[in-house]
Amino acid sequence: MTTDRTAPGHDVIVIGAGMSGITAARLLADAGRRVVVLEARDRIGGRMHTDRDAGFPVDLGASWIHGITDSRLWELAQALGVPTLEFTVGSFQAGGRPIADFDGDTRRMTADASAQWTADVAEADRALEREIAASSPGDTYLDVTERALDGLERLPEAMDPERIDEIREFFRHRVEEQCGAWIGDLDAHGLDEDAIEGDEVIFPRGYDELPGRIAAGLDVRLEHVVNAVEREDDGVRVRTDHGEFRAGRVLVTVPLGVLKAGSITFDPALPDEVAGPIRRLGMGVFNKIFLQFPERFWEDGVYAIRALGEPGEHWHSWYDVSAISGRPTLLTFAAGPFGRRMQDLHDDDIVADALAALRGLYGEQVPAPAARWITRWGEDPFSRGSYSYIATGSSHHDHDALSGPVEDVLHFAGEATWGAEPATVGGAYASGVRAAERILGTPLDLAAFAERRGRR
Ligand SMILES: Cc1cc2nc3c(=O)[nH]c(=O)nc-3n(C[C@H](O)[C@H](O)[C@H](O)COP(=O)(O)OP(=O)(O)OC[C@H]3O[C@@H](n4cnc5c(N)ncnc54)[C@H](O)[C@@H]3O)c2cc1C
Repeated sequence: MTTDRTAPGHDVIVIGAGMSGITAARLLADAGRRVVVLEARDRIGGRMHTDRDAGFPVDLGASWIHGITDSRLWELAQALGVPTLEFTVGSFQAGGRPIADFDGDTRRMTADASAQWTADVAEADRALEREIAASSPGDTYLDVTERALDGLERLPEAMDPERIDEIREFFRHRVEEQCGAWIGDLDAHGLDEDAIEGDEVIFPRGYDELPGRIAAGLDVRLEHVVNAVEREDDGVRVRTDHGEFRAGRVLVTVPLGVLKAGSITFDPALPDEVAGPIRRLGMGVFNKIFLQFPERFWEDGVYAIRALGEPGEHWHSWYDVSAISGRPTLLTFAAGPFGRRMQDLHDDDIVADALAALRGLYGEQVPAPAARWITRWGEDPFSRGSYSYIATGSSHHDHDALSGPVEDVLHFAGEATWGAEPATVGGAYASGVRAAERILGTPLDLAAFAERRGRR
């Protein structure tokens, strides 16, 4: 055990070396503060995790910037000169870039049928928007979608019931992918902030290049698991499995799932302004399955393959990410209740199940995959889920309230603390900037920050 008893020592201890923690630490260090970052894992990046063991990058955590227009994160990536690839259906749109749609009878839909499907979803979304606006506190996303679909069923020129069922499934899957939650657990306003402005992009060299570049030169102590944060008269004491650290202030950036699990004890206990949001907000599960095939069996030029209706009950969307490795690769997701159940299965069973669904669409010509990558974020002790969502009974306000600060000593950052864009890398980045601004007591010039980082 080492003891880093500092008075003086560090001005700020940052707990967690994900995007939010690294960003805040870098801004604080640039402003002359003595900062140490304590990270439980043996790597930085947190939920930005690029596996490069196979000789090409596989993003097991975040992949996308969901909309580059007016995005500070996009400006950062540009300033750093990090290459990106346009890939615009990452946020579960019905249309947009070409999608190979399969109907409820596993028949490939024509271009006209796909266009009609996109138009039907848009109509249902307009009805849904009206129902959300008219909803009452306590209404779930399931309540408002059912009301919207009931309304569509009653129209004089109603869609046929099978189509309405397909839209119902689509809404359910959208909540699973965007929030990692069951539609009945999400608040009616849970997707209010889900607008995508501009193209979406992915990172052919791996998304974790971003936190890696920002972290260069910082004092990051890896494999330091924090288990207690104690406020004292003259600062804060942070206990880890490798000794204790003291500083004037602490910035906590561990995921909401870790806070909910009580893996870190706070003494004195957190006030209800922060403890309440931790209790009320939800932590969803969203897992990735990459299947790499010996040869390509699907059409050229499609961004995604999507199965509507019953055949797509579990495995409904496949994203063609072959451009990253140069090998035929599909990425599919298991999220919400199915994502949790999947974590208990053996990898072979998961692949067999996903493969059977793909063969239902493309026939027996679908070969066995040559390689696969499977995540289990819900079982990860340093994440305990994938990202936060607005559970019924919580609100957007809870996200921002979670940032504290508590007596200007205990600050919080991370995707779950950023109400305007939770569950994203962009939200984590913005929350890290806000925390640094609060600690420094001054607004920061992000364009200058990005430019400084780009020069290194
Ligand atoms: C599968 C998946 C796909 C995603 N896809 C996208 C996407 O395409 N686009 C997008 O914008 N977002 C996506 N996200 C969300 C995005 O990854 C996160 O919102 C963002 O990376 C969170 O950053 P953060 O700094 O808030 O938290 P984290 O990155 O989780 O950082 C927190 C850090 O705290 C550390 N920590 C935890 N407990 C302790 C402890 N006791 N002591 C010390 N350290 C501890 C963790 O190890 C971690 O490094 C995805 C997430 C997942 C899981």
